[in-house]
Amino acid sequence: MANYHPNNEFLMSFAAGQLSNSLGIMIACHLEQCEQCRRQTSKYEALGGEILASIESQKVSPDLISQIMDKIDHQADSKPDTMPTAAKNYDIPRPLRRFVPDNFDDLKWSGMSRNIREYTIDIDDSEYTAKFYKIKAGKELPQHTHEGSEFTMVMAGSFSDRTCHYHRGDFILADEQTVHQPRASMDGDCICFAVMDAPLKMTGFFGRMLNPFMR
Ligand SMILES: [Zn+2]
Repeated sequence: MANYHPNNEFLMSFAAGQLSNSLGIMIACHLEQCEQCRRQTSKYEALGGEILASIESQKVSPDLISQIMDKIDHQADSKPDTMPTAAKNYDIPRPLRRFVPDNFDDLKWSGMSRNIREYTIDIDDSEYTAKFYKIKAGKELPQHTHEGSEFTMVMAGSFSDRTCHYHRGDFILADEQTVHQPRASMDGDCICFAVMDAPLKMTGFFGRMLNPFMR
């Protein structure tokens, strides 16, 4: 059960189909494991549909949105949950299965160091880069900050960062203000799905020569 969730703004953007591919996949992974956020997202989806329908038939009154929200709240409480849930004994969230056909161990991990491995996920996205990180049990990342934003979701194992402890399904947002040093728990390797602002791309002939060295 996730303890850290995307905020409502994310869920609303997801419902409206406005997130870039990588972030959309991450939110979909979280929803698969979080009933609370699934319910909230279906409210937003229903709200979007109702507003469209109303716009076609009449002028939108100021009360309309709250009336619709009441109605949806009512429906959501009485309706059984129909979203798919993760199959047991299968650790890869459904939205990631085309990138991880079998198992995290089979991916071609490359080394940042012996204890920290990374794998770039081939998601078509012009805004963000998506990666898996694997931190060996008990090991930690060097302390770092972020130049842009980094969104992280725990796939397997768990890690601690200062006072917080994150488990499978948790969604974490780090930005320029965040200084952190995640450490994997002793009881197993920690695998995270991370989505970050795409690194600056140099253009021009010399720039392109330099790109492989810029990270
Ligand atoms: Zn949630």
